Amino acid sequence: MRTAGIRATQFAILAAVFAITLHAEVPEAAVAYKVTLTSPEQHLLEIQIELPAGADSRELQLPVWNALYQVRDFAQYVNWIHARNRSGTSLTIHKLNNSRWQIEGAGQGALVTYQVFADSPGPFGAQLNAHHAFFNLAEILMYPVDARKSPVTLQFSQLPSEWRIAMPFQARDVYFQVENYDRLVDSPVEIGRFQENDFMEAGAGFRVIIDADPSDYDADKIVAALRKIVAAEISWMNDRPFDTYTFFYHFPRGPAGGGMEHAYSTAIDLNAESIKRNLDTLTGVTAHEFFHLWNVKRIRPQTLEPPDYTKENESRALWFSEGVTSTAEGIAQLRAGFLDEKQYFSRLGEAITELQRRPAHLTQSAEESSLDAWLEGFSYYRRPERSVSYYNKGELLGILLDLAIRDASHGQASLREMLQWMNANYAKKNRYFEDSNGVREAAEAVSHADLGWFFTKYVAGTEEIPWDDFLRSAGARVEAIPNTVPDPGFLASRNFDGPMSVVAVTPGGEAERAGLEVGDTITELQGKPAGEESRQQLARLRPGDTLAVKVRPRRGAERELKWKVAGREEISYEVKDLEHVTPAQRARRTAWLKGEAQGVLAGDSK
Ligand SMILES: [Zn+2]
Repeated sequence: MRTAGIRATQFAILAAVFAITLHAEVPEAAVAYKVTLTSPEQHLLEIQIELPAGADSRELQLPVWNALYQVRDFAQYVNWIHARNRSGTSLTIHKLNNSRWQIEGAGQGALVTYQVFADSPGPFGAQLNAHHAFFNLAEILMYPVDARKSPVTLQFSQLPSEWRIAMPFQARDVYFQVENYDRLVDSPVEIGRFQENDFMEAGAGFRVIIDADPSDYDADKIVAALRKIVAAEISWMNDRPFDTYTFFYHFPRGPAGGGMEHAYSTAIDLNAESIKRNLDTLTGVTAHEFFHLWNVKRIRPQTLEPPDYTKENESRALWFSEGVTSTAEGIAQLRAGFLDEKQYFSRLGEAITELQRRPAHLTQSAEESSLDAWLEGFSYYRRPERSVSYYNKGELLGILLDLAIRDASHGQASLREMLQWMNANYAKKNRYFEDSNGVREAAEAVSHADLGWFFTKYVAGTEEIPWDDFLRSAGARVEAIPNTVPDPGFLASRNFDGPMSVVAVTPGGEAERAGLEVGDTITELQGKPAGEESRQQLARLRPGDTLAVKVRPRRGAERELKWKVAGREEISYEVKDLEHVTPAQRARRTAWLKGEAQGVLAGDSK
């Protein structure tokens, strides 16, 4: 374990101050959870819930979804459940549906015990194995339906020796205590032999919990990058709504890739090899997840609140909550010095290409893509003729809305003012915003202009986006360039950090001749585990190159396939300078890429 010297000491003092402000006693009405790590080898947990006195008949619910906007029915992992009263007499439990149980005779309180199997790796999962435990707690903890708002305590037992616990808040002796279930399950937990590197920045304490082989990463470099990211975003939002924040990282050597946001923490998994090469993916994912502490955790659409754990929470706002978080990720990377103008424009061109190449950009709106998020687990849904990504189109809409606000306000306002307005008028006032209408309200408030056309055509509608009209004031344009692109002969996609599955194979193509079939799982691509970077690997191929993949067919053993990559005519989009960039356009561009509004002199170019 490496620590950051003097900064770690400052952090320790800060943490001690917070600990004192916590309540010293367990409240009478608390729901007390105890998680026993029964068998790491068999991935078995025993959960005990102590219910306070209350109604005689009580219901317990296990969420059907959490972390991902996908129903995953966690009840599938509950092996058995029983309940007793305080004097040890068994109570009757009957199942109301596959995720809800009713207990009779619990008036004086009850002790409910159940066994859960937990072996889903990654930032969206819950896993106990011989190496460690990581939990999104909603996947293993039921809540009493009549006491979801009650204070809760949580403790863990039967930890293997040398295992420690990290959560986004301080432990009190052996247990954690928070105000309610919702807050508890927004707090992931890592238990094991992790390394911890703490630092202070912008007056806050940051914990960096890393579960990985120490030879696979350089903690000092990671901390240096994190400092830049958090400083860039805190200054951009001019707000720091927390005193401590925790980064959880896992760098497994196999397939990995993904990040999950929480109000006071984030959990990020990245493949160890990619971390060794450079920190580009880490800084991108981290900038995205950290920005979520504002956008979605505090600046929150009404449709996600309060969360309904019993069914899909449909929202038309994910293009904003996810996509515009990606826009902010880009701005943070520019402000932190991780991207320059050339790299940013190249990335913008790639995002435009991704959207334009999906035929569904003319049939599915950004709002519909948001609503349909709950279908993303199905591979057919992820096909280009069926859906667009609310991440991809949402990120582009964030960029275009930024430019539209600048145009409408003659440079006096930008996306930054809009997000700060939403923070002040929704988050700080404990209000939730009304999906796209709430975004429009904010955009119009800071630009003093009617932006209804933007939302009608491009957010709720599927009109082709006139890229040049938006980019002109920043002296840029989009060029459509026909070229021969590598065609591997198949299409594969992943459900977040899930395995990469083949969703289409070109009839008569080389991949089909080599034996690749729809439904196959690709485990390796050119000798590297399939994951976050596979898309870039595929993009780097040239027609004529040999492609080597390892696949696990639906039936039969894993095998290796090889074939030659073909070529196909496609249009790529690139962002270029206008022939003559005026000083006013240059000034607009400079302000845009800084994420800032312009001064009083809109044409001033400094
Ligand atoms: Zn996100």
